[in-house]
Amino acid sequence: MLFYDLVVIGGGVSGISSAIAAKKSGVEKVVILEKDSELGGMINQCIHSGFGRSLFNEDLTGPELAQRFADKAIALEIEYKLNTMALEIRKDMVITAVNSEDGIFEIKGKSIIFAAGCMENTKEAVDILGSKTAGIYTAGTAQRIVNTEGFLPGKQAVIIGSGNLGLMMARTMFVEGAKVMAVIEPGAEPKGKEDYVRECVEDFDIPMLLMHKLTKVHGDERVESITIAEVDSEGKRIEGTEKTIECDTILLAVDLIPDTTLLKEAGIAMAGGISTDVEGIFVCGNANHIHEGMDSIAEEARNAGIAAARLTGE
Ligand SMILES: Cc1cc2nc3c(=O)[nH]c(=O)nc-3n(C[C@H](O)[C@H](O)[C@H](O)COP(=O)(O)OP(=O)(O)OC[C@H]3O[C@@H](n4cnc5c(N)ncnc54)[C@H](O)[C@@H]3O)c2cc1C
Repeated sequence: MLFYDLVVIGGGVSGISSAIAAKKSGVEKVVILEKDSELGGMINQCIHSGFGRSLFNEDLTGPELAQRFADKAIALEIEYKLNTMALEIRKDMVITAVNSEDGIFEIKGKSIIFAAGCMENTKEAVDILGSKTAGIYTAGTAQRIVNTEGFLPGKQAVIIGSGNLGLMMARTMFVEGAKVMAVIEPGAEPKGKEDYVRECVEDFDIPMLLMHKLTKVHGDERVESITIAEVDSEGKRIEGTEKTIECDTILLAVDLIPDTTLLKEAGIAMAGGISTDVEGIFVCGNANHIHEGMDSIAEEARNAGIAAARLTGE
């Protein structure tokens, strides 16, 4: 069993920021467990600029911002274990984790900060009719494939959902050479920011079909086309309005959901970022709720780190 003052699960912006705040507030032994091969979390795959203006007064890409946070943590001698997945949290503050070096091991923290980010809704969650054809991705997976791995997941794409991530992926697919057939949105207005709608969709003449929903996916081995239909103001399909769109790829940009699976499995109740039944467990970042921007994530994470430090000092 390993013992730490603070164990942070998740090495994204929120996990690193909380570890930094705790360390600066006097917590000595801090470790971050990160299942990926580098610190930084989701922003490592956000290769566009526009990050860091308020936090560092500089225009940085996502990976550059991630590196700034990682550098700060390293300078403060915060320990971290990469390629290490937390498998279980127990109410006695013991975490079971696994990596290829240590195998399965247990680690106990006087405090635990849970900063595991969020999940995306999948085809199953969105309840789309059609067989399990290839060519259906969540927008975040497609973002990783294009931005990090350097592949294009398809040549003719339809984006389902008009939130910021969906809008960004419409532009990304277009500039990387795919034909973006449409962005489909059941609401009467796009969900994402106005400037994203302009800069990611309108500027590239990508059709945005509001008050439409995907009703069926066609194709045996790979997506070949989809059927969409108009919906009324209550989101109900209007019969007789079906249209077919040819495409080989569908990107689901439907919803982000805080990933609190490990906390739920342990029966650990949380409210407002603090456990209501186990003293010393905190949650921050997108694992707590889906944030609009980095500033609020960094602030919430700082508060979690300071709260953990108060407890550890007692
Ligand atoms: C798919 C997606 C795309 C996005 N694209 C953009 C964008 O283009 N521009 C933008 O401004 N914002 C974007 N965002 C928002 C941005 O990523 C967040 O605002 C911010 O990075 C969230 O930080 P976080 O630390 O809360 O979560 P994350 O960055 O998700 O970090 C959570 C970390 O926890 C790790 N983890 C999870 N479970 C475990 C476990 N069991 N054990 C160990 N480690 C674990 C993960 O590997 C991850 O590194 C995107 C978010 C998502 C989900």
